[in-house]
Amino acid sequence: MNKTELIQNAEEHLFHVYNRFPVVFDDGKGVYLYDTDGKEYLDFASGIGVMAFGYDNKEYQDALIAQIQKLTHTSNLYYHKPMIEAAEKICKIAGLDKVFFTNSGAEAIEGALKVAKKYAYTKKGANQYEVIAMGHSFHGRTVGALSVTGTEHYREPFYPLMDGVKFAEFNDLSTVEAAITDKTCAILMETLQGEGGIYPADREFLQGLRKLCDEKDILLILDEIQCGMGRTGSMFAFQRYGIKPDILTAAKALGAGVPVGAFLVTDQVAKQSLVPGDHGTTYGGNPLVTAAVAKTIDMMEEHKICEHVQEMTPYLEKVLDEIVLKYPFATEHRGMGYMQGIVLTIPVGEVVKKSLEHGLVVLSAGKDVLRLLPPLVMDKDGIDEMKQKLCEVLDQYV
Ligand SMILES: *Cc1c(COP(=O)(O)O)cnc(C)c1O
Repeated sequence: MNKTELIQNAEEHLFHVYNRFPVVFDDGKGVYLYDTDGKEYLDFASGIGVMAFGYDNKEYQDALIAQIQKLTHTSNLYYHKPMIEAAEKICKIAGLDKVFFTNSGAEAIEGALKVAKKYAYTKKGANQYEVIAMGHSFHGRTVGALSVTGTEHYREPFYPLMDGVKFAEFNDLSTVEAAITDKTCAILMETLQGEGGIYPADREFLQGLRKLCDEKDILLILDEIQCGMGRTGSMFAFQRYGIKPDILTAAKALGAGVPVGAFLVTDQVAKQSLVPGDHGTTYGGNPLVTAAVAKTIDMMEEHKICEHVQEMTPYLEKVLDEIVLKYPFATEHRGMGYMQGIVLTIPVGEVVKKSLEHGLVVLSAGKDVLRLLPPLVMDKDGIDEMKQKLCEVLDQYV
């Protein structure tokens, strides 16, 4: 089947829930993807922040192949070594005490919400169910995660959603304070907002929230599904703010290419929340995906991935400065490390599409942001090539 036939066939059988770009990817090598016609694409999207080591990484593949040949599934009724190893490693890099593995980011959010509700129920009785989330936030598509996602048009068709959710303004502490009641059990936010348009949390805001939560025994949930796992140049973005969450969610790059998420909690929260019977999953944290998590963390440390991102960030930001300076319709750039956005006054979806035609994979975020999430191994030559390709596209708008 050629590309047109493949796409026709896809549209005949796939539920049309995505407006996909007309590209059929077939292969990947390093920071490049290849479609079924053999056309090469430089990847500045990483499959939405998943493929931390790029494609076809032998070290990573060997670990997964070895695990596939041993054992891929047991259920959570039994112990297995990959989960034990992955749990120890993720708790260590996050500086938290206990972890539960899930199959996706949304499920990690669902778990985090259940932990917060159960904590309040255990400590103070049944009525403390309110959660404060942020405007422009994104936490996933399941009903609970959707309830705390701060974009009205995602939520509206599915009302009534989870009860007791209030939205505050990101980076405006007074709006959070105003939303707190004696029923508040948790405050949930992304440390660096992704889908909503690449908005990093201000230092004073996050530290202020931590203080508020401590004073009122409210749990701080940080969603680092997109910005965690080395993306900002730290293992987790909160580690740059001198604070710690009570609950942390991770997914996307956690397994660097297999579907796995996690929520982590402090001992103090673990002791007063979920107990056997409260939560579970059939697949979650199976031997295959947790072998990938353990390998991902090892490789991030051995290959000094955070240091690499830190080292390259000034260069990437300099390139973004140049783009903003060169094009009047590029008004600013925002971000941290390898999670960056360029604000455009021209249609972003069209720029993403034209970039693909020019062999560059990029993303959008919000209405007006071009989002860059390169594999964490992206080097200086890749950044130069991105600039050249993106400028070819942007030149068409001058
Ligand atoms: C992608 C994302 C999610 C949802 O993860 P899924 O694996 O798609 O369910 C939640 N929160 C943030 C910040 C994300 O970027």
